[in-house]
Amino acid sequence: MSRFTEFETYDVRFPTSVDLDGSDAMNADPDYSAAYLIVRTDAGDGLEGHGFAFTIGRGNDVQTAAIEALRDHVLGLDVEATLADLGGFWKSLVHDSQLRWLGPEKGVMHMAIGAVVNAVWDLAAKRAGVPLWKLLADLTPEQIVDLVDFRYLTDALTRDEALEILRRAEPGRAEREQLLRAKGYPAYTTTPGWLGYDDEKLVRLCHEAVAEGFGLIKLKVGANLDDDIRRMRLARAAVGPDIRIAIDANQRWDVAEAITWIEALKPYDVWWVEEPTSPDDILGHAAIAQAIAPARVATGEHVQNRVVFKQMLQAKSLSFLQIDSARVAGVNENIAILLLAAKFGIPVCPHAGGVGLCELVQHLSMFDLIAVSGSTDDRVIEYVDHLHEHFVDPVIIRDGHYLAPTRPGYSAEMNPATLAEHRYPGGKVWTELSTGWQKENIA
Ligand SMILES: [Mg+2]
Repeated sequence: MSRFTEFETYDVRFPTSVDLDGSDAMNADPDYSAAYLIVRTDAGDGLEGHGFAFTIGRGNDVQTAAIEALRDHVLGLDVEATLADLGGFWKSLVHDSQLRWLGPEKGVMHMAIGAVVNAVWDLAAKRAGVPLWKLLADLTPEQIVDLVDFRYLTDALTRDEALEILRRAEPGRAEREQLLRAKGYPAYTTTPGWLGYDDEKLVRLCHEAVAEGFGLIKLKVGANLDDDIRRMRLARAAVGPDIRIAIDANQRWDVAEAITWIEALKPYDVWWVEEPTSPDDILGHAAIAQAIAPARVATGEHVQNRVVFKQMLQAKSLSFLQIDSARVAGVNENIAILLLAAKFGIPVCPHAGGVGLCELVQHLSMFDLIAVSGSTDDRVIEYVDHLHEHFVDPVIIRDGHYLAPTRPGYSAEMNPATLAEHRYPGGKVWTELSTGWQKENIA
């Protein structure tokens, strides 16, 4: 028997606001950050579990402290017993009778649980000697539903219905896994469309995206309508009529404003409109979706838990569901959300802008393809070409597809040098960067 013996957190930040990578209508100066966790055991196998919550700078210290608050929930636990019942482990964190008050099941504490749950899944996959997607895809339908907490879901999805969905997908699993290994999973790129980029850079990056094999690109919108119309026209001219263009407002609008703004961009053929308004506004999203059809609404990167996703599906608030690997409480809750999406027949197109989110979420889509929805129709994983060099097992994109990871684990592990140099505020990257200089240059 072995036990969890170490629980080490890091506040890791990248000064991405210097080049305006990741800039959008609401997040003008993001410093991509990870509240990062390593768990270790006394098993003597040298294996560690790595996980993180993604934030964008200020507040990453709060997020790291929230992960610290879970230290005693993990240290001393029997590793084999924990890994044998990861559904029970999830509940032991989410249903903590006191920490629950801070949500329930939302915000900083819920994201902290996500980091812990993901770190333990990373360890589970490393121990099994397989990438996470493969570990999940080889579970039986019964094992998969045991990972899910169906509390608050049963009016939309029962355990038996989930089992039925999973059993229906069982016969084609091997064939789809082969296809995945050969071809990868479709990706789209947000790289051309950050709001802080000038027109020349936008057009150049649009051409590059098409040359690299992407079938969908995404532009940030919502700061200024005239600018958006001009950028949309330039992008459409650059990519031609056959490449899909999605737009992302990052929650900028009220409902009526969203509808007017989107109407003005529709002549350039909008594939989806992402986060048009507050991520909590289920009925607002539904009203927008109804008004802008046949353009469609996508949302999810800030949807705080499976219960809100359930309601969005019930209310027809979205046509594309965007899971995020580090927003809800980790792998287990995302499995619940994948099952909900499958029940409602809605394609899942994960959010992955940020640091490490591409690395993580690819595993969930690949699992979905093999064992849940069984399809890649209208499904794409976001790809952003930033910061992959900091990871031990970075994503590999070929011809507009994510290649299936082969290395054991959840691809969450950052290089040791990155953890040391980007640690905030004492790491080399931060001590060498003058804050004053940075502020002047992003103003
Ligand atoms: Mg977005």
